[in-house]
Order: sequence, then C-alpha cells, then structure tokens
Amino acid sequence: MKSMDKIVSLCKRRGFLFQSSEIYGGVQGFWDYGPLGVELKRNLKEAWWQDMIRGHNDLVTPPGAPASFEMVGLDCTIIMHPQVWKCSGHYDLFHDHMVDCRESKKRYRFDQVRGRWCERGDRKIFVSTLAEVEQEFDEVRRRAMKFFKLRAKNADELTISDESLTLDKLDDTDSVLAPDAKTLGTLTEPREFNLMFKTTLGALGGEDDTTFLRPETAQGIFVNFKNVLDSSRVKVPFGIGQIGKSFRNEITPRNFTFRSREFEQMEIEFFCPPDQSQAWYRYWRDRRMAWYTELGLSSDSLIMREHEPAELAHYSVGTADIEYAFPFLPPGEYGELEGIAHRGDFDLRSHMEGKLNPNSPAGEPMQVELNEHGKPKYRGSGKDLSYRDEATNEKFIPHVVEPSAGADRGVLAFLCEAYTEDQAPDDKGQMQTRTVMKLHPRLAPIKAAIFPLVKKDGMPEVAQEIYGELKQHMNVFYDDKGAVGRRYRRQDEAGTPFCITVDGESLSDKTVTIRDRDTLEQTRVKIDELSTALIERLG
Ligand code: ATP
Repeated sequence: MKSMDKIVSLCKRRGFLFQSSEIYGGVQGFWDYGPLGVELKRNLKEAWWQDMIRGHNDLVTPPGAPASFEMVGLDCTIIMHPQVWKCSGHYDLFHDHMVDCRESKKRYRFDQVRGRWCERGDRKIFVSTLAEVEQEFDEVRRRAMKFFKLRAKNADELTISDESLTLDKLDDTDSVLAPDAKTLGTLTEPREFNLMFKTTLGALGGEDDTTFLRPETAQGIFVNFKNVLDSSRVKVPFGIGQIGKSFRNEITPRNFTFRSREFEQMEIEFFCPPDQSQAWYRYWRDRRMAWYTELGLSSDSLIMREHEPAELAHYSVGTADIEYAFPFLPPGEYGELEGIAHRGDFDLRSHMEGKLNPNSPAGEPMQVELNEHGKPKYRGSGKDLSYRDEATNEKFIPHVVEPSAGADRGVLAFLCEAYTEDQAPDDKGQMQTRTVMKLHPRLAPIKAAIFPLVKKDGMPEVAQEIYGELKQHMNVFYDDKGAVGRRYRRQDEAGTPFCITVDGESLSDKTVTIRDRDTLEQTRVKIDELSTALIERLG
C-alpha cells in the first residue's frame, strides 16, 4: 500500500508542494505549488482545456443530439455582485454544521451527503454520540443506514440498535470508527456555519458592502450565459468551461490538499434542450471518467458513485461523483475528484426569476426577507435567460449538465497514482530501491533532462546545445552536477519521462542515449533526430 507520508515528503523534498506561509508556522488549508508542482498543475489544467474546450469536436455525440457542438471558455472574477450568491442559494444554504467536543476540544463537521459527523476530515463516524444532537437523530440514522448499505458487502446484516446508536457489524467495514460516548465526551450544540469567505467592497464597509469570495466558478458562467450567446455564434447544445480559484472556509481542512480553503476548479456548464439532457448527462459522466484513465489513473482505483434518488436536489435528475482511492483513506473508501450533476434549469431560472426553494418539490419561491419597498430581497436579475431555437422557433430555458472537477484534487490523485517504488541498479550495478513518479508524459513537469556524462572533454558544450534546441519545444532541464546515477534518480523522483546523456561516443558519432524512466531502457539516437524522437515518444 502507498504511504501518504512518503508522498507528502517527496512533494516537499522535490518542490511539488509547500505549506503556505510555512516560515510563520503555516496556515491550515492553504498550499503553495513549488517549481515542479506548478508545472504539473499547469499541465493538468492545459490537458483539461485542450481536451474539453478546444479539441472536443472529433467526439461522438449522444443519439438524438447534433453531430457536433461548441465549447467556449470564460474567465470570470472571484468577487461578484452579492445578489449572485443569494439567487444561487449559497447565501442561505451553503452551510456546514459543526460541533466541538468539550473535553478533547476536537471539532467535528457534518458530512451532508454521507450523513456523518467527521473529525477534522472525512472518514470517521461518531454514531454513538448522536444522542447529544437529538434533532438530527433520525435523519442521521437514516443516512448512516443508507451509507452502509451502499458500501457494505452484506448490506442485509446491517442494523442500528436504538439504545446506543452504534452500528452492529462494525467489524465488517474498516472504514468505520465508532468510539463510545465516553471516549468522545460531551459535544456542544451543533452550529451552522456558512462556508463562504466574507469580504468588504470599498473603504466604508457597511453591511450592504459585504460580499463573498466565490465558492465555485460555476455562477460566473450562469450570469454570463446571455453575453456568451449574444457575442459568439454558439447554438444550444453548447458548453462553457472555466478554470479558476474558489474559496471555502472549510471547518476541517485536511488530508494534504484534498480539502483546502483555497483551491482551483475546472468546471463546465453544458446547456442543452430539456429533452436531450439525460443523454448529455450520461455522455459527460462517461467522458469525464475516461479522461482520468487516459491520463493514467488506474481504473481499479476509480469509481463512479451515482447519488441515490434521496440524495438529489429536487431539480436534479442525476448526480454522479468520480471518486479515487486516495492512500489516506482506509481500503474500500474513495474521495471525490469530480461531481457531474444534472442541474435542470434551476440556475438560469433562479438568476432570471429569483431564488426558488430547492427543498420544495413545487419549486415555490423561498420565504425571503423583504426590502423597504416590500419586494423580495432575493429577486433575480429580471433578464431573459431563455433561448430561442432558430430552426424550430421554440423558446425554452436550457437544462444544464455540470461536470465540476477540482484541479488540486486531480493533481493529488495523479501524484498518489504516480508514486512507485521499484528496484533499479545504481552506479555500481547494485540493485537498490528506487522511488519513481510514473506521471503521464502530458502531465510530467519536466519532459526531458539533459546530462553530460562528465564535466569535461566538450560534453557539457554539446549537452548545452541540445538543451538550447529542446527548450524551444518543451520544458527541459540541464544538470551536470554529481554522479550520473544520482542525476537519474533525481529525475525519477521528479517524474521526468526521458533523460538524455551526452557521452564519449556522442563526440565522435553525434548520437546520445535516451533513457526511459519506466523501463530503464537506453537507446541511441542521432542528435539531429532527437527532438522528433522525443516529441514522438511524448505522444
Ligand atoms: P466535498 O463533498 O468533498 O466537500 P463538494 O461535493 O462540496 O466536495 P463540489 O461543490 O461538487 O464539491 O465541487 C466540485 C469539485 O471541487 C469537487 O469535486 C472537488 O474536486 C473540488 N473541491 C470542492 N471543495 C474542495 C476543497 N475544499 N478543496 C479542494 N477541492 C475541492
């Protein structure tokens, strides 16, 4: 099993990730990407942008849908009009519940989807202490039951005993930790906590000037829907993608970058006619899953978790999470990488008409505060965000399918997947344990490293010349310090797929060796043909 400690230590040692403000003791939930990390993350975002936005046209579309469709991009601001968050529902509903243990001072958050109190993270359930929070008692029991049914092999054998509210058959699932109430001590009353970071516009800073750092990039897309329609030649169905920072004041940031307070999202809002939306939902689910495996995540470590009908908001006909078996989770547990949600016309309609109550099956307007004119405070923009199909003249509010991925969680999953220990010969031919990051060539921060075998006899000059030439095509690295074996190991840890060595033979026959990171095979190629050979191998 891969050790998270080793992965975290490699990330620091090689410059993938550092804790933010580390010299001041760090700040929880914030991470900086080092020289290798920034390249990796950039490559991941570029792969997403290329495959989802620019290069999508050669794909097969679902039956009943047009043979091709447009995908365009946006880059919206992090701070938006406060009304956006009222109409989107974040102002009222983007809450976590938390309780503190009076004795241990530990803090727990309630995971809405899985129905669990979690200790500073994701995976611990404290069913035995829920007598302390009676108002949520039944709901938690129902959700806990559902959760175990979803996960346990022998779902029929699971029962919950009322007196203690501990789950019978706990031994069946490693994923559960249920200490008794004595261990946990008493809990404070549950408190609600909005996850949006508040900030103030302008110098005066009254209550009306309060706004928020965006907790998702999606709303920038919805409020620009009409702008994109009017300014480009897109026709429904089409998608708008955006990559950008989002902020959530998570109560329990942890598990390295998995739950951060500042993170990046890669989101698509795909607008389609209502009668095609189911087909597009399935299309995006499958396409997004395939993307992760094409870039190297093992399909054994990935699952598509369809939400149960009871977990869905009333406007949604389907939501699926792509989840990965991160090494910090117990065996059999998975953490969300991306959610693909069918959102109906909820968002566009809310921004047109004002906030609807998402918990009401009829979609009735919310009980909202009234302003001094007796009008609801959360009125929508009043702008017409519907679409008229030129061919049929039909007017409708498009339905939306939203594949919403986290760039940081993606990077973390690819780092975990890539981490490998194998046996390789050292400079003296002795087999040693080697740590190697088997990153897909598209994601690898450095594509090739160039070494002169020794720092004399004209080898550095030839190597420098090769370095200068390759630099124009890809991110390459020059290194002439220390034994060549150690230089190879350094690049293995950086995930560099190819190392090029200039040796004695290079000077006479103008060839170099290319060493393959994964197979350790060395082949000789002519210097003249090197860049073509590398580009071919990088795919
Ligand atoms: P979770 O249940 O883990 O809190 P979520 O369901 O709230 O996640 P979404 O609102 O669906 O997440 O956001 C879409 C994606 O954004 C997630 O799949 C994840 O990759 C990323 N993401 C969300 N919250 C965070 C976070 N705190 N840190 C890093 N990435 C995040």
